[in-house]
Amino acid sequence: MTENEKLDRIAISVRSHRLLRVLLRENPMLETIMRESKNEIEAQIGVRNWIHSEYSSRKDAFRFQTDKVTRRKNFEKLTWNDYAIIRILDYIDHAGIEYPDPNLRGEIAVSNPIRFIWLAVIKGTGGAKPEFFIDMIQLFRQLRGESRQIIPDRDTVERWMEMYPSGVDPRIVELRRENRERIINLLIAKIDSGEIRDARYTFPEGISHGEKLKMMNEWWDNYRFHLHFAIRSPDLLNEMLGHSLDPDTMKILYDAEKAGIPFFVNPYYLSLLHVRVPYFAIGADLAIRHYIVYSRQLVDEFGHIVAWEKEDKVVPGEPNAAGWLLPSHNNIHRRYPEVAILIPDTMGRACGGLCSPCQRMYDFQSGHLNFDLDRLKPSESWPEKQRKLLKYFEDDTQLRDILITGGDALMSSDRSLKELLDAVYEMARNKREKNRQRPDGEKHAEIQRVRLGTRMLTYLPQRITPELTEILGDFKKKASEIGISQFLIQTHVESPMEVTPESSQAARRLTGAGWLITNQLVFTTAASRRGHTAKLRKVMNDAGILPYYTFTVKGYMENNFNFAPNARVVQEQLEEKIIGKIEKEHYETVKQFSDNAENIVESIDALRRSADLPFLGTDRNVLNLPGVGKSLTFRVVGITRYGRRILEFDHDITRTHSPIINKMGKMIIIESKSIHEYLRQLEELGEDISQYEGLFGYSMGQTEPRVPIYEYPEYSFNITKEMSNLEV
Ligand code: SF4
Repeated sequence: MTENEKLDRIAISVRSHRLLRVLLRENPMLETIMRESKNEIEAQIGVRNWIHSEYSSRKDAFRFQTDKVTRRKNFEKLTWNDYAIIRILDYIDHAGIEYPDPNLRGEIAVSNPIRFIWLAVIKGTGGAKPEFFIDMIQLFRQLRGESRQIIPDRDTVERWMEMYPSGVDPRIVELRRENRERIINLLIAKIDSGEIRDARYTFPEGISHGEKLKMMNEWWDNYRFHLHFAIRSPDLLNEMLGHSLDPDTMKILYDAEKAGIPFFVNPYYLSLLHVRVPYFAIGADLAIRHYIVYSRQLVDEFGHIVAWEKEDKVVPGEPNAAGWLLPSHNNIHRRYPEVAILIPDTMGRACGGLCSPCQRMYDFQSGHLNFDLDRLKPSESWPEKQRKLLKYFEDDTQLRDILITGGDALMSSDRSLKELLDAVYEMARNKREKNRQRPDGEKHAEIQRVRLGTRMLTYLPQRITPELTEILGDFKKKASEIGISQFLIQTHVESPMEVTPESSQAARRLTGAGWLITNQLVFTTAASRRGHTAKLRKVMNDAGILPYYTFTVKGYMENNFNFAPNARVVQEQLEEKIIGKIEKEHYETVKQFSDNAENIVESIDALRRSADLPFLGTDRNVLNLPGVGKSLTFRVVGITRYGRRILEFDHDITRTHSPIINKMGKMIIIESKSIHEYLRQLEELGEDISQYEGLFGYSMGQTEPRVPIYEYPEYSFNITKEMSNLEV
């Protein structure tokens, strides 16, 4: 007997029975079909026929459900009831399909909701949990038109936004000054007692406490100090937080340490956490806290985490999951024709902190180079390797965009970064020179965009020094002369509380050097609270940062705690981000943003004023799919007995992909958390879940169009269609 056959025999709980009764009472026709069906097949046919006859006028829904490729235009014609019609028919079409579930270490998940209901009605078995029945009750309410999609008005969204102060709020700045003082005093005590011994950080004999404080405050402004004193153990973390962590949290952190999960929290970032929670900012630091404090699920899964990004597995000379041939194991990652990621063998492989939902937890399982900053210094052979890697970009027919990241691109020393940027310049110039000999239509793509991926703006803004900005400014000046026109800092701000006076100053320095800053938010549970992301967009705009992507948390059960279901990502897009929607008439204005990064704060303000927008909703809400790339084009096609939804994703048809996409087909994602579990978690975070009404209904998404800031400029010539370095 298979595991699923065993599960079929499990009696449902009393709570499930009660919920089943509600489902049947509200849907007498469903009850009749279930009771009169001799088996699950008859039950499925009965439900299908009922839907087709009862809702025969909803032609748009039936057409959309059977379309091979779904278009945004057709998606926008659908009504709220149509979503339910489509989901029920999809459930029936996908009934009985088995999917390996990486959330359960590869166990087989089977979706067969009509069968689960039929077993429950006829035999009281099927093992379906309350979360499953709650989702089904909501589905049929949506079908009957009882649950509605209520789009909140702008005032409501702005009220939600007000719940979250920013890190530049003077009251928060004052609290952080207290935090900094507490941390500094602890470090002074440790240096005095000899617990910390370091030649660089010692006090001259006999100086007063006041003088020590003065020295410490000067060190605080230097990023090296924070890397040096980064906290690497649970005990020290708790001590620095004034012993404010509760015993349950500490137990998880000790277990994390035992399991080998690295800790790396620098003093500046730690000072952003509240120890004394102020009445006006209750829960405001949760998105930061959940990035530092690991979850039980992460600890339990560590050692069993499987890689999400299949195309990041590289064997030189063999095509990766997207079909690209790459020159080295660990330095170039590529999914799309136009862009590839370069990861240098430098300190840039580390970060200024470790984000708990980071996909690099997978790599940390091997214990290799986990925040060992000395061992990450570049070796002597790196310059030669760097040249070879950039030759790959130089000779490729399609690459026009290079994203230097890590880890964190700005963890590299100024010297390493300058050498790398100089090498990028040489590569781009050679690419351009070689094109002169090629006829129109056979020319290669030339480099138009250079990006640096970094979270230093939030982890350690002290890293954005005048020296660093000078390097970036100089690069921009000379690279502009050879046709590179987009210079982007791709950052990762997670919470309005991370935008501080220090990070705002760092942002000003970067934009002052002519680099535009764009943000990639990870939509964790804490970040998914009503108004949180909308407020973040506003606060970032104030600092001259443009939202770029809002990403569903990737990974499997290890990220269960931080995972917010895709339904919430769609809801956020349609109910909150909508108040910052930029209409097409303003597209010409936003297109100019990257030519004028130095004045970005003024440009954003002017557009917000003229278009009467509280923020610019320039980001796309998406999931970064293994192999397929960024998309929010999905439908819920199944549901497990535990109420976890099974989503079928399609790729984003509006962008260029490797031709392998035609072979790949659609991608199945099984969510690690049911909608009901997510709502319960929000309740524990203090949310009023009545504000999330309609969440269950968001069972479909369609990828949003890209705002033109993020388009590549047109070439004045035609490039070849030939794709090099590809084997499909
Ligand atoms: S900054 Fe990015 S790469 Fe570094 S730990 Fe955070 S998510 Fe991971």
